[in-house]
Amino acid sequence: MKRVLFPGSFDPIHYGHIDIATRASAIFDELVIAVYDQPMKSLLFSPEERIDLVERSLSHIKRIRVVGYNGLTITFAKEIGACAIVRGLRVFSDFEYEFRMALANRRLDPGVDVISFITSEEHTFLSSSTVKEIAALGGDVSSMVPKLVQDAMSRKFQDLGNEHNVLPINSLRD
Ligand code: ADP
Repeated sequence: MKRVLFPGSFDPIHYGHIDIATRASAIFDELVIAVYDQPMKSLLFSPEERIDLVERSLSHIKRIRVVGYNGLTITFAKEIGACAIVRGLRVFSDFEYEFRMALANRRLDPGVDVISFITSEEHTFLSSSTVKEIAALGGDVSSMVPKLVQDAMSRKFQDLGNEHNVLPINSLRD
C-alpha cells in the first residue's frame, strides 16, 4: 500500500491545492492531507476550521484522509508510514524553496522522498494569500475556491469586522 503525505497550511484550501490532491490521489493508494497546526505565518482560520474545509472540499475522493499535525513534516511522514511527501510547484520561486526543503528533508530522513507536481496552467497564480486578499476586499473568488470555502471566508470577515485589515498581504509564496 503506497501512502503519501500532502502537507501544508491550507489557509484556506483552493483549487490549486484541490488539483494537486486530486492528481496525486489518482496515483497512490492513500493521500493523507496534513494541515499544519501553527505555521510561521499569520492565519485566517483555526487548525480545526482549515481541516474541516479541506475535508468537505475533498469528501468525494475516498483515497484522501485529512489530519492535523505539528512539528517536523518529515517526522510526521515517517510516523504515518508515508513513502513520500507530495508538494505543488507553481512558479520558479516555489522551486527554489521546495528544492531546499527537499534536500533538508532528505538529510533528515533519506527514506522518505519528495514528489513535486507541476500546477495546472489555470492555477499558476493561485495562492491562499491571493484568495484571502481578494475576498477581504470584496472581490469574486468563485473561480478560485469551492463555494463552501467562499462562504466560510465571508462569515470569517464578517465576524472579524475591521480586524481583517491586519491580514498580511501580497505574498506569492505562502
Ligand atoms: P505551505 O505553508 O506548506 O506552503 P500551502 O497551503 O501554502 O502550505 O501550500 C501547500 C502546498 O500546495 C505547497 O506545496 C504549495 O506549493 C502547493 N500549492 C499552493 N498553491 C498551489 C497552486 N496554485 N498550484 C499548485 N500547488 C500549489
